[in-house]
Formats: sequence, C-alpha cells, structure tokens
Amino acid sequence: MTIDRLAIDGGTAACGSWPSWPPPLDADQRALVDDVLGSGLWGAAPGGLCDRFSAEFAARHAAGHAVAVGNGTLALFVALRALGIGPGDEVIVPVYTFVACATAVLLAGATPVLADVSADHLHLTAETIQEAMSARTRAVMVVHLAGSPAPMAEILDVARTAGIAVIEDAAQAHGAAYRGRPVGAIGDVSTFSFQSSKAMTAGEGGLLVTDDAELAARAWSTANVGRTRGGEWYGHQSIGWNLRLTEIQAAILLPWIGRLDEEIARRNEFADALAGELSDAPIQVVAPPEGTTVDSRHLLMLRLAEGMSREWIARALDAEGLPVDLGYPGLHRIAPVAAESRRVPTPGLDAVADRIIWLRQPLLMSGGDGAHGAAVALRRVGADRRARGA
Ligand SMILES: *Cc1c(COP(=O)(O)O)cnc(C)c1O
Repeated sequence: MTIDRLAIDGGTAACGSWPSWPPPLDADQRALVDDVLGSGLWGAAPGGLCDRFSAEFAARHAAGHAVAVGNGTLALFVALRALGIGPGDEVIVPVYTFVACATAVLLAGATPVLADVSADHLHLTAETIQEAMSARTRAVMVVHLAGSPAPMAEILDVARTAGIAVIEDAAQAHGAAYRGRPVGAIGDVSTFSFQSSKAMTAGEGGLLVTDDAELAARAWSTANVGRTRGGEWYGHQSIGWNLRLTEIQAAILLPWIGRLDEEIARRNEFADALAGELSDAPIQVVAPPEGTTVDSRHLLMLRLAEGMSREWIARALDAEGLPVDLGYPGLHRIAPVAAESRRVPTPGLDAVADRIIWLRQPLLMSGGDGAHGAAVALRRVGADRRARGA
C-alpha cells in the first residue's frame, strides 16, 4: 500500500502553482492606458475617463451617482464626511474586518465601536449592531466580507428604527448582490477599493456610490478641494482635499467592468465545487449569510473543526500550493486601534477567530478543475494527526 506523503514532508504538492495577481492587462486596457499616456492628460478632468468609469461603475451597481477617489480608505472617510459625521459621534464597525474601517472613522474624528460578528458567517447582524448602539451612534459601517453580502434586510431594519446611516464597505464585493440587488445602493452610501489585492484593481484606487444626489455632491466636493462640480476653480464651498483617482487608473478599471461577471462566475465555480467536495471534511467552506444572490468570492473563508492546529495547517497547505492566510486578527487585538475605540463583548468572533483561514483569490485557480486539487490538499492535510495538534 502506498501512502501519499504531504508536500510539507517532501511529497508532491496537490495543487500546481497558483496564478499571480493581478493578471496582465488585456488588450482593451492596454489600448486605453496607451491613449491616456499619449494624451498627456493624466489627472482627472471633467468628462474624462474617471467620470466615465464612475458613471459606468455606478450603473453596474444600480446606484445613481459615484465619486472616484485615491483608495478605499479615503472612500470611507469621504462617505463619513458627506454624512456629516465627526468628533463626538460613534460609528459601529465589525470587529472582524480590515483595519481601514476603524482608521477611516478615526480620520473623520469620530469613535469606532467594535461590534461583534456572527460566529456562522462573520458578518455584522441586527443583534450585534443593537448590542453596540449608544446615544452617540450615527452610522453603521457594514462590510460585505470576502465578497459575501452582509444580511442587509435585518441590518436596514435596525438602522432605520434607530435613525442611523448605513455605509456599505464593498471593498471586497465588486459585483456582489443581495436579494437580487447589487451591493452599493442598498444602504445610504457604499464604498469600493481597487487596491492590488482586490478582485478589480489598478494598484490603488477607490470609489463611493450612492443614490442620494446631495450626498454625492458633498462627497465630490470633499474629494475635490471643496469645489463644486462645474464651479469656479478657486471657488471652495466646503473643506475638502485632493483625493482624486488618476486617468491612468481609470483606464485600467473601465474595461474591467465588462469582464467582472465572467470572473465572478469562475470564482463561484471554484468555490461551489470546493464546498461540495468538503461537505463532510474537517475543514469546510464558510457559507454566506441568507439572502445572498451573488457572492463575488473575493476570497474564500474556511472553518477548521474545533481543536485543529491552525498554524500547522496553514504551513502544510502552503506547501501543497494553496495560498492561505490566517486572516484578520480582529480589530480588538490591534492595540493602537483598540485604544481609540469603544469595545463591546465579542463572543461570536471569539468562538471562531482561531479556526478561520483564508484562501487567497487569484481567480481561485480558475473554476472547477482547480477546486479538485485544492480539495485533495485540504482533505490530506486535515486528515493528518498533526492537524489535530497531535
Ligand atoms: C481593502 C479594504 C479597505 C481599504 O481599501 P484601500 O484601497 O486599501 O484603502 C477597506 N475595507 C475593506 C473591507 C477592505 O478589504
């Protein structure tokens, strides 16, 4: 009888090489980038590619307006400013998210409140938001984690009852949809990131979308040194900064809108096949919350059975050719952020935090074929006695 040795012990890796990210520019992107470079008009100007990209991206997400900015952190900051949030105000953020959610709130001069998340799907819920609410709460920042939409119906209910604004952080969820509606204009304002690791990227970049024309005008002014659209060059109607995207970035992003759905479909093919193969395994794919129409699968969260050794598993999977990551530590474990935030108990996250690993996106090895190799690796590694800490 032959026993396959794990790659970490010198055996053959179950997965070939994982594609690098981002992918090379396609022909449309290259042509548009060349046009921009040749034109000499590299900065955003009225009627240019930044405006075209903003309009098309807003339309793709069923939102009326968009404002492009330099990155996703600034998009969150601009959204907060446009909502009039500042010193003395509290903004509820999920404790399990990227650090920028909290630091954008701090940049606006407000206080982040680190709310618990569901132990099942790691998103905010109506209940965890309610537990974090105070008389100072002005908004909740809902993260569509890993490309999977948060349970928006119950969240909107609790926010409307409390009279607080809803910001959707869709940095990881380009093209995702909840109950048949694209993320983006479900809450009051929504933000996206085009940083290098995201499913749509220009190296850096960000954008906010909203259905509220007045909020969009305030956001545009904030990102354009306080000017008003079409107004005087040296007319400054509000406090603002130069937070603009460049035309070169827009040239990379505009053609990407056209292939977003196909890429999402490929990632879902991979994720569905992998979830199917792992249905009775000790390492499982985390299922999205109820109400998900399109999970954009920016990355795949996996849950280990209780008592498994996460660090050893991550090393063994890495050797098998799977790009895994331990994921977020939780904002409450980031000392400088915790020191500036209000904290509430987080039993939901604490129950699962040390059992989550991430599979990084690079189109998740392109569809169903790659999923089999990944499933073999996850089963082999999960079955090893060292995965049990033995
Ligand atoms: C990437 C990310 C951000 C920040 O976006 P940048 O473009 O890197 O500033 C904010 N929130 C979440 C959930 C993210 O994943």
